[in-house]
Amino acid sequence: MVKEKILKKIEEYDRIIIFRHFHPDCDAVGASLGLREILRLSYPEKEVLAINHDFGDETAFLGDEDGDIDGALYSDALGILIDTATLERASNKKFSLCRELIKIDHHINVAPYGDISWVEPNFSSACEMIASFYQDFSDRLKINKAAATYLYCGMVTDSGRFRFNTVSGDTLRLAAMLLDLGVDTDKLFSDLYLTEYSALKFQSYVYKKMKTTESGVLYIYIDRKTQKKFGLSREEAGNAVMYMESVKNCLIWIAFIECDDGKTRARLRSRFVKINKLAEKYSGGGHACASGATVSGKKQAKELVRDADALLKDYKASNEGWQ
Ligand code: AMP
Repeated sequence: MVKEKILKKIEEYDRIIIFRHFHPDCDAVGASLGLREILRLSYPEKEVLAINHDFGDETAFLGDEDGDIDGALYSDALGILIDTATLERASNKKFSLCRELIKIDHHINVAPYGDISWVEPNFSSACEMIASFYQDFSDRLKINKAAATYLYCGMVTDSGRFRFNTVSGDTLRLAAMLLDLGVDTDKLFSDLYLTEYSALKFQSYVYKKMKTTESGVLYIYIDRKTQKKFGLSREEAGNAVMYMESVKNCLIWIAFIECDDGKTRARLRSRFVKINKLAEKYSGGGHACASGATVSGKKQAKELVRDADALLKDYKASNEGWQ
């Protein structure tokens, strides 16, 4: 069984380094810090580090990861890369220096890697995987309130507040196990949900400017100028995709965010229709109903929207029950 193999590897190594994808969300950071906490509590004699090279403002409340260490120290370490479908998406490329690498991920397994690979596309979050890992070995592993809070945070956010169809009875049972450890939900939901006045103004801008195609693809392009006008970080601008999620008959919605490097990030979301193949066509990928991609600018963004429109047209013509 793969989880047993992973635990065995963890027990073999004195140094374990945890990695995650760049542009981290609460699931990537929560799973990394949650696993770090569980392993530090369970094996105080081991050195357990989470070393990554970029940080997001929106995950800052979860706390710090570790500073980098000498490259030579990676060579006798076990690397665990979490929530990262492809090696290119790793934040800290030094995972390749580790003696062995384990993949733990809940995205579709488009690019298998690692000496051991545990991939569960049916899990609603990587944090759920870590919680289930803990539970399977609760006689050998230790957990505390801090670890439970990291994991619960990633579970709540990556499951759309326990709303997506990847949420199972097990998801809720694992969340309940974490809650019982004393997660302070008042504090957590303040960290997650309080909104700045300027962010609400931006939300109203999104509703004013979003457009829809003939078949019902909702989209908006947020250029650098608009981000500056509203004083938005890239993450905040990216929230536009969430504002568009509940429009009847608009089964695909896309936010394009122009970045400093001249490229444009596309955040794609859908219900019923699978969009990961579409994202893959534009140097991206992800989940069936939540993917990311990159386009060169407005012109290619339009192309992506046209493709999404065709996909949705086909879907609507050959399926029933959507709205
Ligand atoms: P985002 O819109 O950036 O939150 O991405 C949605 C989902 O797609 C996340 O789970 C990402 O990990 C995944 N994703 C985003 N961009 C890419 C990419 N370029 N390649 C593969 N997966 C991606």
